[in-house]
Amino acid sequence: MRNGIEGIDELLRDRLLIMANDRSANDVLSHVPLRTGGLVLTGADAPARCREIRNAQPGMVVAVDYGSHTREIASVDAPFGLATSHGWRALGLADLNEILDGQRDNKVSFAVTPTCFIPPDETGDASVFKAVIGQTNQLDREDTIVLLPCSYRWLRGVSLHHLVKGIRACRHPVALIMQADEDPLKRSHVPEGLRQLCRSCPRLVLWRTDLAAFDAMAHGALGAAVGASAVLRFGVAPRPDNGGGGRKPYTVVLVRRLLRYLRVATLQDWFAHVDPWTCGCAVCDGAPLTRFIDSDIDVCAALQHTVRELYALHYELDATLPGHERIDWWRQKLVDSWEHHRLLASQTDTELEFPKVLQAWRRQSPLPLPSAEQPRGQDQSGPS
Ligand SMILES: [Zn+2]
Repeated sequence: MRNGIEGIDELLRDRLLIMANDRSANDVLSHVPLRTGGLVLTGADAPARCREIRNAQPGMVVAVDYGSHTREIASVDAPFGLATSHGWRALGLADLNEILDGQRDNKVSFAVTPTCFIPPDETGDASVFKAVIGQTNQLDREDTIVLLPCSYRWLRGVSLHHLVKGIRACRHPVALIMQADEDPLKRSHVPEGLRQLCRSCPRLVLWRTDLAAFDAMAHGALGAAVGASAVLRFGVAPRPDNGGGGRKPYTVVLVRRLLRYLRVATLQDWFAHVDPWTCGCAVCDGAPLTRFIDSDIDVCAALQHTVRELYALHYELDATLPGHERIDWWRQKLVDSWEHHRLLASQTDTELEFPKVLQAWRRQSPLPLPSAEQPRGQDQSGPS
């Protein structure tokens, strides 16, 4: 067996990773705290960049996501694969082991399986998902997290039960990606399903996500990886053109007190006639959030601001005890966000909607799903 990592669960516990393209890695690196943070790198140069960062800063947690899920759909026979310079390569168990070893050779802090996209379960028997878990359970290693890039439909109904059962049976921690055409948490029952999953599966990391990282960690997720850009904040279904450069994205900032990402142009509209909100993070140093324009320097500074603000929020989460205290802290953040939306509406004289996802998070938390050993009907205790 390849030498394991000292307690991969402990390494991941309460850790907030930033998921960034290899080209943005250096922009965010100095804003990521060693003790509670880390990076997940995507893109063709991710392995090389990972090695560079780990050579320079051995204490920084860095992993690599090859993005196989954006290229191919998983099947029972070939749930893992890799885009190479010679084309697509499906991976059997021995190949998979070799790829994970290769990640370790590039000094990753932990290895990540190159799982292909797991589509909605049309057959009802969860066969593709079971193949992913079944094969990784044959891996004799303690240094690997199993990537589960799933359609949002897995967070509902009988699929959710399959998901919980499979994750509980997995020998490794898992990293869940939720895929949809837009924010998967806008789909009905998905926020509740995710909470149930987090409360039912203690070895789950939410991957390629946004502020859902905090809702998930409040509800028992081991850790999370938040995307630095919009395309890295939820899963995308495989398309032939994935991986190509899209149009230039507009500048977006996290407005921490609102618990939302917003386009700077939207903030500029809202604050056209009143003093704009300022930010006290180390990047902004009291400057207004409306100052960013679409230049490369400003896009970079906006990202650095967002990373700082994510870790400021995470610092608060990390100071709470898991369970009731952490859920209460998150609930209060959502109450504060609602108040700040009201305040903003009155200050700027604009009609503001409280976002659907934040509304969903303000609802009561569902109970965890019963474990297999638990007799039906037995009362489940826990925070409500
Ligand atoms: Zn700032």
